[in-house]
Amino acid sequence: NRKVVLNKRPQGEIQDGDLVLKEEPVRDLKDGEVLIKTLWLSLDPYMRPRMNDSKGYMDPIEIGAPIVGESVGRVVESKSDNYQVGDVVTVYSGWQEYCIIPGNAEMVYKIKDQGVPLQTYLGVAGMPGRTGYCGLMYVGKPKAGETVVVAAASGPVGTVVGQTAKQEGCRVVGIAGGPEKCRYVVEELGFDACIDYKAGNLDADLAAACPNGIDVYFENVGGDVAKAVAKLLNPGARVPICGYVSAYNAEDQSKVETPFHIFGALDPKPEHRFFLVTEWQDKHQEITALLAEQVASGKLKYSETVAEGLDNAVEAFKGMLKGKNFGKQLVHIAD
Ligand code: NDP
Repeated sequence: NRKVVLNKRPQGEIQDGDLVLKEEPVRDLKDGEVLIKTLWLSLDPYMRPRMNDSKGYMDPIEIGAPIVGESVGRVVESKSDNYQVGDVVTVYSGWQEYCIIPGNAEMVYKIKDQGVPLQTYLGVAGMPGRTGYCGLMYVGKPKAGETVVVAAASGPVGTVVGQTAKQEGCRVVGIAGGPEKCRYVVEELGFDACIDYKAGNLDADLAAACPNGIDVYFENVGGDVAKAVAKLLNPGARVPICGYVSAYNAEDQSKVETPFHIFGALDPKPEHRFFLVTEWQDKHQEITALLAEQVASGKLKYSETVAEGLDNAVEAFKGMLKGKNFGKQLVHIAD
């Protein structure tokens, strides 16, 4: 079983030797256990803060342990009545080729075939998609005619936020890095506009794209983007704080100006709060089915970037934190 483990806690950007490949045999199953072979591994921004020593909303990864992560895998051996060989599931396996789980483990879901590619259940029809959908609908509470802004617009969370807000009748403005992503967000995903925050004219470009101000800002990135948005928020605006990836590689997290500082300092304050997708765990099956159905019918568009094999996972992950990915970043492990 090959795995990528945390060898040393990264200081700032991940360096060679921080995350290393390790190989050990797969042990025999005990009664009640299930062996799952990883097919697709999901790379997600939240994995970077979990490599730090500080306790955030989740415990840090222990030194020597595999990097956390969800994957799509196939059951290859089962000593549990709950699973049969051949079942395909989403499971928090970590970055490894095989994982063993108890047959009654939580957060493991059998995939029901809805005619979409399996890896979609790690992207727009998976955890990031549910994050975008639930955060927008239940915290952002968009109304028809309002202006909704979302950054990291071409990624899986932003993709779902924007397309869902369009379905709700909103004006939707994306923010993304580079002309190619911006063109895709408007022409393929159907946003009304998309601002390239790297073009050097963020304040003016955003103001021009939001002539009626901003009613909902779905916070994915923080930093300069959040500051530009803060100037344009309307009274009564809602800011679901989903994450702030611009700070994830910061060497000193205590010095980061977070979205809580930026939006909490405004007068009037927008309604802003951090949320975790697991708040709506009871809706997991329902929202997954809804998003997969939209993918199957072509209503929900998305893109993905695939790295091949565990050997390329670390580089792909480092790239994703800097926007080298175009859409959902995946690692293909096996067929
Ligand atoms: P993405 O696939 O969109 O990848 C991250 C993107 O962030 C990059 O592609 C890049 O896009 C953008 N980015 C990186 N640095 C900066 C910067 N300095 N300023 C602006 N943008 C930057 O990620 P996801 O869709 O998977 O996740 C989006 C957010 O949602 C993250 O903050 C993540 O932590 C959060 N999240 C939160 C969850 C929750 O339960 N609260 C659950 C899942 C995700 P570009 O090239 O366009 O800049």
